[in-house]
Amino acid sequence: MSTVLVALRGPLRLALPVAAVLAQVRVALTPGPDPVLQTCVAVLLLVQAGWMLAGTGLVLRDGGPQRALATAAQLLAAGLLADVVAGAAGADLPAALGFMTGSTLASVFAFQAVLRWSRLGRGAPDAGDWVNALGSVAVLVSAGLLLAQAMDVSPAWWPAWQLVAWLGQLSIGAVLIATCLAVGVLAGMARDVRLWGVVGAYGVHVVCQSALSSGGFALTERASALGQVTICAAAVAAAQRPLPARRPDVVRPPVTSTWSLVLLGAGSLLLAVTAFSDLARTRLAATIGVAATVVTFSRVSGIVRELESLARARREARTDDLTGLANRRGLVAALASAPGTGRDRHEAALLVLDLGGFKHVNDRYGPDTGDHVLRAVAGRVADLLEGRHVLARVTGDEFAVLLPGADEHHALEVAARVADAVTQPFDVPDAVVRLGVHVGVTHVHPDEQPAPAGVELLRRGQAAMYAARAANTQVAAFDPAEDERERLRHERVEELRGLLAQDPDPACGEVVVHFQPQVDARTGAVVGAEALVRWHHPRHGLLAPVAFVDLVERHGLMAPLTRQVLRLAALEAARWAEAGFPYRVSVNLSSSSFADGDVVCLVQEALTATGLAPALLTLEITESVLMENVEAVPPVLQSLAERGVGLSIDDFGTGYSSLAYLADLPVDELKIDRSFVRRLLADPRTHAVVAGTIELARRLQLRVVAEGVEDAETLDALRALGCDVSQGYLHARPVPADEVRAWFQERTAVDQRS
Ligand code: C2E
Ligand code: MG
Ligand code: MG
Repeated sequence: MSTVLVALRGPLRLALPVAAVLAQVRVALTPGPDPVLQTCVAVLLLVQAGWMLAGTGLVLRDGGPQRALATAAQLLAAGLLADVVAGAAGADLPAALGFMTGSTLASVFAFQAVLRWSRLGRGAPDAGDWVNALGSVAVLVSAGLLLAQAMDVSPAWWPAWQLVAWLGQLSIGAVLIATCLAVGVLAGMARDVRLWGVVGAYGVHVVCQSALSSGGFALTERASALGQVTICAAAVAAAQRPLPARRPDVVRPPVTSTWSLVLLGAGSLLLAVTAFSDLARTRLAATIGVAATVVTFSRVSGIVRELESLARARREARTDDLTGLANRRGLVAALASAPGTGRDRHEAALLVLDLGGFKHVNDRYGPDTGDHVLRAVAGRVADLLEGRHVLARVTGDEFAVLLPGADEHHALEVAARVADAVTQPFDVPDAVVRLGVHVGVTHVHPDEQPAPAGVELLRRGQAAMYAARAANTQVAAFDPAEDERERLRHERVEELRGLLAQDPDPACGEVVVHFQPQVDARTGAVVGAEALVRWHHPRHGLLAPVAFVDLVERHGLMAPLTRQVLRLAALEAARWAEAGFPYRVSVNLSSSSFADGDVVCLVQEALTATGLAPALLTLEITESVLMENVEAVPPVLQSLAERGVGLSIDDFGTGYSSLAYLADLPVDELKIDRSFVRRLLADPRTHAVVAGTIELARRLQLRVVAEGVEDAETLDALRALGCDVSQGYLHARPVPADEVRAWFQERTAVDQRS
């Protein structure tokens, strides 16, 4: 039984208002009042309202709109009942007065229902909405009065209260239609038939009432009763399913504020018309017009105050407290509307200044003096700027000057003057302070497509400023080519960061190691190979160390790179040993390998993971590594030597060539740099240096490796001088792991045959 009732609940809800409407049609068509029918309609409306109140939770979590709608239905019913009671008591009241009053009050709640829903039930509609609604009704009534009289239509001769009541009903209807439409469209319900159902019901009501006005007040008042019940039925039907949730209230304030202004204008216009009109009812229209004007004026003055405080807050948010200049936000706003970036484009230039040594002023003389200096800088720069400009403090000691209309030449000139002014001494209590400055200048040409955004201009200015700092010059102009190179570098660093965070993959990793064989200078037998890193870039192909090692060093990524190279090289050398080629593998370490991580740990990890004998691993370090880490490197080398790992001095002769470390450090090998090897035959002095180096190494019992050997004559000369090992294109170029293995096999086969 209960399931049957639940199933019937929906259809019953709809059936009731339909019944109320039909009954009301009957009331409307019956000449003279019909108390029985009126009572029936009222009861149906009350039942409907009760149901709506009980079921609010089902329809929308917040009961606001439904409650207001239910109240509207109750008020309609109360109006009908009041008429029935007044008729029964024989009171001498205008016909349908109760219903007119009830329906007017019901409109208030209907309006509230629409607004409540539009605000997602968050609190009551604000005063602005009510002022707008009241103002609109008053303006429409006032205008209607004038229009009816001016056009000489029949209602103009109704008694004043009837005319006002009639116009009031029409105006309320119009306002509710407009509100429903605005709210419905804002909520994205333009295609929802329910919205058009309610709007249509209001529309029919207003049109019928207007059309029937020629038939007299009694007829229009009946039409009004019928219309109200129809609207109530449409609204109830619309609320049967949950309405879509409105997005947060972002569009409303400007809409309602604008409408207030329109109303104020319309009210004032009406007053002006009435002042010059000689129509009989102008006084009434004027009174209502005054009410509309006063009501909306209060709202508009409130809006003006709000705007004022908003403008002040905005100004304050864009101003730097310390200097009174624009702050970063202010500058970005100015840049957004700068002539170089807008639609109506002219040239513009931006200067970005960075003070040098300001931190020292703050540290040495305290923050008060620092503030004083910053204000003085702002003052000096402001004094020398002429014409239209925006001066801003972007961050602590970074300033910016926007010069609308300035060409590049003028911008550079201003930058030089600014730099000159800022570097003049500043008097502070008990001292004189001097600052350095770097100024980046960027200029935007009106033909640049697409126009750079404001923040992009600031970025370019800052990039130019960093370039000035890097080059240690006072002024530098933005260089798009260098900027693009910097962007690529940055992109590459990010790629490397991701790459080096992973474990090395000998099969298909992007970090790969190529091997360049080393041979015995006398016999030509293979003795080892140098591991040289490569980056198999997915877009740029195989990259040599020169393309990325420097970036790796500068961004603190050398430890993970060394770890990968060590692992890959040791793995390969272990495979050679297994295949019967127990050759040494040499791995390069740079200064940052020592700075970024624990080298001993990295080496030990690689040896343990691959099972390579320590004697088969040689680590190459350059002289600069030793010179840059005088304290830290020797103990590390000692520890590596104790583990049985070989050590080699790479690029020997290109650095400081301090002979002290040759005696003190546990080094096994010297690699003569290829710049010497290349000139060995052509330059007798180079020949003498190489001969001396080989002699020295021999006495210290160090192995000598010559790198960059490209021809047999050079090899012969090196051999004659007593060089032990030769490495260079003469023998083989650096090749991938599988090729070097094949090379070893081929070479061994040749050796065995000969
Ligand atoms: P390096 O250690 O002096 O390596 C020798 C460089 O000389 C290699 O260049 C090699 O290809 C090149 N070379 C060898 N024989 C000849 C020759 O006969 N003629 C000419 N013109 N060049 C020859 P590559 O591979 O471009 O490496 C350049 C530098 O990059 C290396 O100089 C080394 O300092 C650095 N590097 C390479 N791999 C690594 C690594 O894994 N870690 C670190 N930290 N640095 C590395
Ligand atoms: Mg090397
Ligand atoms: Mg070298």
